[in-house]
Amino acid sequence: MLLPVRIYGDPILRKKLAAAGSPEEVLPHLPDMIETMYDDDGIGLSANQVGLNKRFFIIGEAAFENGRPDSVFIDPVILGASDETGDYEEGCLSVPGIREDVERPLTVTVRYTDPQGEKREEILTGLAARVFQHEFDHINGIFFVDRISSLRRTLISGKLKKLINQHS
Ligand code: ZN
Repeated sequence: MLLPVRIYGDPILRKKLAAAGSPEEVLPHLPDMIETMYDDDGIGLSANQVGLNKRFFIIGEAAFENGRPDSVFIDPVILGASDETGDYEEGCLSVPGIREDVERPLTVTVRYTDPQGEKREEILTGLAARVFQHEFDHINGIFFVDRISSLRRTLISGKLKKLINQHS
């Protein structure tokens, strides 16, 4: 079932989400979230983007270079990040019509609980590192447009206001 995606201006997108806890709290939502993500041509989707106050998100298989399937990251933590950063043009299902270059670390070391309840630690690079950081921001109430220059933000402020007005 397709879920309505919350749009910029919705208070839950500014919320620091609560711990998800066990995979049982998360697994029932995954089929609908994956369907919703692909329907919108997304590569990641966080719980609050579909109205859930739980710290988890999904990342689509296209973000991984090693043939890894669509993956869920429960109660994720970023343990460390590379000094080396890069710019990449990001978009967001919750901020339709806006794409902006965002500078982020190229590599992150992360910890999370997997769907089997195992705690995992790994190093992510490339697009996976990029999407993980974007989704991790979401569960802390942060948008990619919070991470662009104040000049760029001023330039898109009209579009952002329009999104808030359309959906409030
Ligand atoms: Zn997003």
